[in-house]
Amino acid sequence: MTKQELKQKVIQAIDSLADQIIKTGDFLYAHPELGYKEYAGTAYTAQLLENAGFVVEQNIAVTGVRAKIREKKQGPTLAVLGELDAIICREHPDCAADTGAIHACGHHIQVAVMTGVALAFQKISGFQYLGGNLVFMAVPAEEFVEMEFRTDLKKKGLLTYFGGKQEMVAKGLFDDIDISLMVHALNLPDGKKVLTAPSGNGFIGKKIKFTGQESHAGSAPEEGINALNAAMLAINNIHAQRETFSDQDRVRVHPIITKGGDMVNVVPADVRMECYVRARTIESLTQANLKVDRAIRAGAMAVGAGVEIEDMPGYLPLLNAPALDKLFQENVRFFCGEEGISQGYDFTGSFDFGDISHLMPCLHPFTGGVQGSLHSKNFAITDNDTAYILPTKAVAMTIIDLLWEDAKQAQDIISNFKPAMDKPQYLNWLKKTEKNTFLDLGET
Ligand SMILES: [Zn+2]
Ligand SMILES: [Zn+2]
Repeated sequence: MTKQELKQKVIQAIDSLADQIIKTGDFLYAHPELGYKEYAGTAYTAQLLENAGFVVEQNIAVTGVRAKIREKKQGPTLAVLGELDAIICREHPDCAADTGAIHACGHHIQVAVMTGVALAFQKISGFQYLGGNLVFMAVPAEEFVEMEFRTDLKKKGLLTYFGGKQEMVAKGLFDDIDISLMVHALNLPDGKKVLTAPSGNGFIGKKIKFTGQESHAGSAPEEGINALNAAMLAINNIHAQRETFSDQDRVRVHPIITKGGDMVNVVPADVRMECYVRARTIESLTQANLKVDRAIRAGAMAVGAGVEIEDMPGYLPLLNAPALDKLFQENVRFFCGEEGISQGYDFTGSFDFGDISHLMPCLHPFTGGVQGSLHSKNFAITDNDTAYILPTKAVAMTIIDLLWEDAKQAQDIISNFKPAMDKPQYLNWLKKTEKNTFLDLGET
């Protein structure tokens, strides 16, 4: 068996599994679940992988699946990931009537691709020709949402971090992984089927509570301290920072007021905001966050209000491993030619895979076959072959390259890779980013 013959076999196996792969995507699409609630998706994926003969663990981080082959071999371990969670978009025609949940970020495609790769290798007994090990993971909660629900899970001791991959790293579920691979869906320009080597912002999540003094808004506003004015000043102070953010840092700050007061004739004494601070590097993120904190405190100070700022570690910037992108590109070129590939894209959004990319070589290309923006009512699959089958084949072929001849290429990539952080440094980043700061009522 040559490497080329094995690739040919795996392509044929994926063609014969195409209906199953699409069926998996359809099932998840019909059962959209938000982060840490993906029980139907977890059970379905676990059953599929168990039936195929993998050793499967379920609900690894509240929800989620981790599957491995029966016999552990020498050499590095590659993980193929698929994210389980949906988003809420009540405007989407296919959203769940009760929750508004919908797979408008295309994560259902990822899980279908991940199981497709697993089933294809199992079908051709492909592992016998390869060195190293493969782990398949359906991971929970990529979207950083529903803070109150996750805070409850945390209080119950079921969760330490809001992001699925943060939680999995903390739980040790990446301890034995040397390289991670996944593919995300994206509406690509005409003629393009693949986008490789994207970069993405990191972010810190913030919950802010302004405390004022209530009083009659008509007859005695002079006796009150207006927490809404504090919040509005804070937002304007944040705007005044924007010219100080340099273009290459790609800073994005987007606060919202989630509670603006209680009654119109009472001076607001309890006003809440949520905010993300995003930037391209950890350093620029830290600096931008300090400015945002200063702006918020100044808003409170101006009117004599109190403020509590709760910072939560969001996600780290997305880093690339060029050697992995190159391999993926070489394989995908076989299906869509050089003209079908676009290289490098500057995302100012964030991915929790960014955290993993600080710890090990990671592959996170995007593939097309979908229309509409991510998270919008127009998001839909337009071409099953490009959405599902192309990434399944390209990932499987990349795995063959990596693990062929006692996993030589994987070993080379690992030994030439300098992680931005090791696990203790990463856990320390999470810990030190999670903090509450206070300014008391009337404090200056
Ligand atoms: Zn998303
Ligand atoms: Zn996504």
